[in-house]
Amino acid sequence: MLTPLHLTPTFGFGDRLGLATPGHIAAIRGTRFAPVFAQQSVRENARTGRTPQQVLDDAKRAVDAAKWDSAWGADADHLKTVDDILPFIEAGYTFFTIDPGEHVDNRADTDSPEALKQKIKGFNWDELSALYLHGDDQQTWGVFDSESLMRAMVKYGKATQQTVAMFKRLSELKEAFDFEVSVDETDLPTTPLEHFFIANELRRLGVRFTSLAPRFIGRFEKGVDYIGDLSVLDTELSKHAAVTRHFGTYKLSLHSGSDKFSVYPWISKYWGKRIHVKTAGTSYLEALRVLAKHSPDLFLKIYSLACERYETDKRTYHVSAQLDQLPSMDDLPSLLDDFHARQILHVTFGSALTQFGAELKQVLQKHETAYLEGLHAHFEKHLQLLQVSG
Ligand code: ZN
Repeated sequence: MLTPLHLTPTFGFGDRLGLATPGHIAAIRGTRFAPVFAQQSVRENARTGRTPQQVLDDAKRAVDAAKWDSAWGADADHLKTVDDILPFIEAGYTFFTIDPGEHVDNRADTDSPEALKQKIKGFNWDELSALYLHGDDQQTWGVFDSESLMRAMVKYGKATQQTVAMFKRLSELKEAFDFEVSVDETDLPTTPLEHFFIANELRRLGVRFTSLAPRFIGRFEKGVDYIGDLSVLDTELSKHAAVTRHFGTYKLSLHSGSDKFSVYPWISKYWGKRIHVKTAGTSYLEALRVLAKHSPDLFLKIYSLACERYETDKRTYHVSAQLDQLPSMDDLPSLLDDFHARQILHVTFGSALTQFGAELKQVLQKHETAYLEGLHAHFEKHLQLLQVSG
């Protein structure tokens, strides 16, 4: 049943090929998570040439075939403008991820006090300073002074307004839905105090959100494990968790959530069942693993195209792979375990599918059991680490 999932723990599976859902179902069955299939962003649809309706139809077909009769959701991912919303509503999506990142002012952290004062003229300083400047009640996530409040207002004020506008539009169009706010693709990390500010502003302005995705410190890059100091991240996560607990009304959402094996135990420790995890490109990489084994010629064509396209295609993604660090090609499937090869293949999916999409799908249909088993094993690893507590 396609339905909003509210505070149920959820796991999001993007499927850029429309063939991965059977493997996703195999992995999620028997876990405490409800699945969100058909998780596809506007950017991904542009690169794969699929419509929101096609993405949802592919997922529905797999859900019916696998006789999955429990609740599931469909995620209209990274919606940036009010105009992005309608096609997803019409198709029947239940989960809407708003990305107001373009309205985040990334210079706010380093602006001079004079520049800040100019910028806050568009906001209601008297009202907000009365709300946020108490001075004495120190919280786990910190406390505002007038400068840090100005910086938070400048950095996230417009993004908050954009989110309110998107929420209002959605509420006009649909009665019940999951609403996620994501600032995970901004240049700078979201501090716990800023997290508090965003959540509190949204609540104050009447936005009922189900989940929130901050940008954490360190690097949550595509298709690879966390890069950064885990003990620093641990301290930071504990403060973010205090913010989430304070409100008690929404889940923590982890974007670029695939392959972060070293981080899952912490996420589980701090948020327990109050989580949503998003994955997408890792399912495409599992498809390429099938190819590397069963159709090496096609794999090599995609791999060389990926190397050609990488510098261009990587621009809108958080990745740090380098072409001159690629390993030797003695064993093709093992390339799918290499940091650099994974990221290079990951961000070039649009180019690869434009040129080789039809052939790739043929191979996957021929080897559907191999694809299903690969996905099952890969996601089981994720879900087991996220199940440890709560
Ligand atoms: Zn994201």
